[in-house]
Amino acid sequence: MNSFSLEKLIRQNIQQLIPYSSARSEFSGQATILLDANENSIADIGDSNYNRYPDPLQKEVKKRISELKNIQPNDIFLGNGSDEAIDLLIRMCCTPGKDNIIICPPTYGMYEVAAQINDISVRKVILKENFQLDVPGILEQINAQTKLIFICSPNNPTGNLLNEKDIETLLNSFNGLIVIDEAYIDFGQANSWISRLKEFPNMVILQTFSKAWGLAALRMGAAYASKEVIAVLNKIKAPYNINHSTQQIVSQKLSDTEDLKNSINKITQQREYLTTALCKLDKVVEIVYPSDANFLLVKVKNANDVYNYLLQHKVVVRNRSNQPLCDNCLRITIGSFAENEFLLTVLKEYK
Ligand SMILES: *Cc1c(COP(=O)(O)O)cnc(C)c1O
Repeated sequence: MNSFSLEKLIRQNIQQLIPYSSARSEFSGQATILLDANENSIADIGDSNYNRYPDPLQKEVKKRISELKNIQPNDIFLGNGSDEAIDLLIRMCCTPGKDNIIICPPTYGMYEVAAQINDISVRKVILKENFQLDVPGILEQINAQTKLIFICSPNNPTGNLLNEKDIETLLNSFNGLIVIDEAYIDFGQANSWISRLKEFPNMVILQTFSKAWGLAALRMGAAYASKEVIAVLNKIKAPYNINHSTQQIVSQKLSDTEDLKNSINKITQQREYLTTALCKLDKVVEIVYPSDANFLLVKVKNANDVYNYLLQHKVVVRNRSNQPLCDNCLRITIGSFAENEFLLTVLKEYK
C-alpha cells in the first residue's frame, strides 16, 4: 500500500488560502428578504429568479446525483464542464514551474493544455500498441514532482476501456492523485470506478453531462473523490461556477433515466451498424477499432485526403492522424441514423 497524504500533495498556498466567502454561502437558510448580495430585487425578469445568484454549492443537483450514483453529496464536485475540474486539480496540486503531471497519449487534449496554461510540465508515456497502459513506463516516469496522473477510460480517441488491474496497480503505487476520466463510461459495459471510491483516497473520477446525457451546451461536469479532496476543489473554484439554468435543467433531466438509456441504446446500436458498414468500405477503410464510447477510431488509407473529401461534402470528422499510434486515423462521432447514412453514402463514392 502507498502512503498517500493529501496534506503533502496540496500546494502550501492553497492549504493556507482563506476562500472568498460569497453572500449566498454565508447565508443559506430560508429568508424572505434578501438584501445581502447587491442583486436587483425589482428587475423585470418574469417569474424566473435570474436576478438572484445561484446556489454556489449546487445542493439540489448534488442530492439527485448522489441518489443516482449512490455516492455522498460531499464526495461530489460540480464544474463548468469537467474541463473546469481538470484545471482545478492541476492548480490544487501543482506548483507552476516546478511540478509535473503524467499523461498517456494518444488521449484527451485538455490535460496537456491545462498543464501548459499553469506552467506545469507534462511527462508522456505512450500507450502500448494495444492501446493499454504501459504501467512500468508510467512508474518509471514518476518522480517527487509528479502530482497527478491522468487516465482516460474509455480513452479518447482510441475508444477502448483501460484494464482495471493496470489502473489498480497505479492507484496502489502512486502517492499523488490518479484522475480517471470517465467521460464515455455510459457507452460501455464496464462499471464506473465510483463503486471503489472508498478504497482509494488518491482516486478522482471525472464524468460529464456533455456526452451520454446530451447536455454539452449547459456546461456541467463532475468530479467524484473523497470529501477531503472535494472540499479543496470547492475552496478554489469560482463562487458561482454553475449558473442557475444549468442547475435547474440538469436537476430535471436527472430523473429521465429512461430517456438516457434509450439514447445510449440507440447510439450503441448505431455504433455496431456503422462499424460493420465501414469495414465493408475496404477501398477507404483499413481498420475500425472496437469502441466502448460514442465514436469510432477509423484507420483509413490516407487520413488527410479522406478528411478533406468529407469536408467538401460538409461532413466534419476529427483528424487524429498526427497523434501517436494514430497514423491515418480519423475519429468519427456516432451521429443520428440519418447522419451516419449520409456519411456512408459519401464515403462509398470516395475514389
Ligand atoms: C468531452 C470530454 C471531456 C469534456 O467534457 P466537458 O464536461 O464538456 O468539459 C472530458 N474528458 C474527455 C475525455 C472528453 O472526451
